[in-house]
Amino acid sequence: MDEARLESELFDVGRRLWDSLPAATRNPLKAADDKAMELASQDAELKAALFRFVDVVPACRSLDDLARHLTGFLGEVETPPPPVAVAMKMGNTRAGRAALGAAAAAGVKHMAHRFIVGENPKAALGTLRELWKDGVATSVDLLGEATVTQGEAQRYAARCTEALETVSAAARGWPERPALERDSAGALPRANLSVKVSALTPLLRPDAPERGKRDAADRLRELLRRARDLGAHLHIDMESLDSREAVLELVLELLAEDEFRAGPSAGMVLQAYLRDSPQTLEEVLEWSGGAGAAREHPLTVRLVKGAYWDHEVAEAAQHGWTAPVFEVKADSDRNFEQLTRRLLDARPALRVAVASHNLRSLAHAIAYDRLSGGDGADLELQVLRGLGDPLQHAIAAQGLRVRTYCPVGDLVAGMAYLVRRLLENTSNESFLADQAKGVPLEQLLAPPAAPAAIVADEPRGGI
Ligand SMILES: Cc1cc2nc3c(=O)[nH]c(=O)nc-3n(C[C@H](O)[C@H](O)[C@H](O)COP(=O)(O)OP(=O)(O)OC[C@H]3O[C@@H](n4cnc5c(N)ncnc54)[C@H](O)[C@@H]3O)c2cc1C
Repeated sequence: MDEARLESELFDVGRRLWDSLPAATRNPLKAADDKAMELASQDAELKAALFRFVDVVPACRSLDDLARHLTGFLGEVETPPPPVAVAMKMGNTRAGRAALGAAAAAGVKHMAHRFIVGENPKAALGTLRELWKDGVATSVDLLGEATVTQGEAQRYAARCTEALETVSAAARGWPERPALERDSAGALPRANLSVKVSALTPLLRPDAPERGKRDAADRLRELLRRARDLGAHLHIDMESLDSREAVLELVLELLAEDEFRAGPSAGMVLQAYLRDSPQTLEEVLEWSGGAGAAREHPLTVRLVKGAYWDHEVAEAAQHGWTAPVFEVKADSDRNFEQLTRRLLDARPALRVAVASHNLRSLAHAIAYDRLSGGDGADLELQVLRGLGDPLQHAIAAQGLRVRTYCPVGDLVAGMAYLVRRLLENTSNESFLADQAKGVPLEQLLAPPAAPAAIVADEPRGGI
C-alpha cells in the first residue's frame, strides 16, 4: 500500500465526515448537558468525586440523601471550580439540599438517557426503528454485568431471549435499507444482540476458566439456537483480560459445532490495546480457515481499542506484572490501524466491523478499504449510542454501513456502563476530549505519533 496515497485518501474521507457533522455537535462534549463532563475532564480530583457520586445515586433514598452524598463527595475536592463551590453552599441548608438533590438526580438521569435507549427491549423499539429509517443499524446490549448467582445468570439469559424475539418481530416491519442488509457474503440480519459471557455465568474466574466456560456454554448455546431460528445476529462482547481466553475459546468452540454450521450469524471482539492482540487475530484467522470453515456465515470481528484500560493497568501494577495493554495511547492507535488492515485483507474469511469514535481510526479503515479495491459494502463502522450520535449520521450520509450499539436497561444496571463511558471520555487521551478542546482537524487526522518521541516526552498518566 502506498502510504502517502493512503494518508491523502484518509484525509479526504475524514474531512468529508467532519463536514457532514452538524456544527453544533462537532464538539459532543460541549453540549449543554455535558457541562459536568467538561468540568470533570479539567480536574482529576473533581472527576474522582463525581464518579463516586454517580456510583451511589441509584442507592439514595431521598433527594436530601442524594444532595448529602453530592456535597460530601465534592467536599473532598480541595479547590472546587466556582459552580461546584455554589453547589456545596446550597448543601448547607435542608431546602438547598432538596433542590440540589433534585438537580443532581435529574442530571444523572439525563446523562444516563443519552447512553441508554430504553428500560427494556420493547421501550427501545421506537429508537431502533428511527435509527434504521435513518440508515443506521443497531446492536442491542442488555445492561447488567458480572453476574453473581445462577439465578441472575438465568434471568440475564431469559432477558436476552426476550430481546431477540422482541427485536426480530419488530424488525420485520422496518422499511428496506439495502446498504444495511447485505454484503458480498450474503444477507445481514436486521436484529442484532450483543451479549456478555460474564453475565451468563457466575463462575467465570481466571483461576478456573473451564468451570465458567462449561456453565456459560449451555446458556450461550440456547441463545445461539434462538438467534439461528429467528435469523438474528448474536455478538459476544469482550471484557477484561482475565476472561479473554475463556470467552474466545467458548465462542470459537461453540460456533464450530455442527448444529451451528448454518447459523446464526455471530461475532466476537478484538481489543487493540492488548499487546498480544495480533496473535489473537492470527488464532481467529486460523480457526476461520479450519474448524470454522464450514460455517455458512463468516464470523464478524468487531475491532475496538478496549474499554478496561484503567482496570488492566491497575491490576498489573498491583501484581507487579508488565501491563498487558499498551501504556502509550499512540501505540494502541497504531496497533488498531495494523489490525484494521489485517482484518480487511482477510476478507471474505471474516466480516469486519471497525468500532471507534476516533475520526482518524474510522477514516483509516474507510480509506484502506477503498484503496484495496473495496466499495464499502464489506466494511461496517460501529459507534456507541450517546457518543457517536452525530458520527452515525455522518457515516450513513456517505452511504456507508454503520451500526450503533444501544444499551437497554434501567439506571441501576446502567451505572457500571455509564461510569466506564464517563471515565474514558474525560480522559486526557480520549479522541472525543481532544475534539471538544477544539484541536484542529489536521491534528485530529494526523498519524499516531512515533513511539520514541512519546516515550521520551510524555508522563504516563495514572500509573
Ligand atoms: C460499537 C462499540 C462496541 C464496543 N464493544 C466493546 C467490547 O466488547 N469490549 C471492549 O473492551 N470495548 C468495547 N468498546 C469500547 C472501545 O473499546 C473503546 O473503549 C471506545 O470505543 C473508545 O475508543 P475510541 O477509538 O472510540 O476512542 P480513542 O479516544 O481514540 O481511544 C480511547 C481508547 O484508547 C485506549 N487508551 C487510552 N489511554 C491509553 C494509553 N495511555 N495507552 C494505551 N491505550 C490507551 C483505551 O482503549 C481507550 O478506550 C466498544 C465500542 C464501540 C464503539
